[in-house]
Amino acid sequence: MKLLIATKQGQGDQEGDVFEAVDGELVVLPIGCQMGVAGLVSNGLTTTFTAVERPGITLASYRAMLGEAIYGSEDAGEDELDSVVDKHVEFARQATEGRVLRSGPSAGPLCECCKLEQRYGK
Ligand SMILES: [Zn+2]
Repeated sequence: MKLLIATKQGQGDQEGDVFEAVDGELVVLPIGCQMGVAGLVSNGLTTTFTAVERPGITLASYRAMLGEAIYGSEDAGEDELDSVVDKHVEFARQATEGRVLRSGPSAGPLCECCKLEQRYGK
């Protein structure tokens, strides 16, 4: 499936760019975006991310990873986790593979997280 990962690509193009994640790691979209997306494992922020095909990862394992990263457990908040997973999957599905996406204050109107929040009415 197509998933969102941190990328160093495009870093420095925008003033205020931040890259504290690990290149290529999965990322979590922020809830109420302020600073960028966060690496799933490193927890480090990045203002640049992209969508790639990761055939080895199933929806179930992705859900477990997101649950672990956000709630500290894959069992916590079933319904809420479902909607978070849906948001990530849908976002990645609509993104062009390999195109650099931006998030955080430095991205301004380019911030994908803000666009996403608008779309979901949050
Ligand atoms: Zn935003």
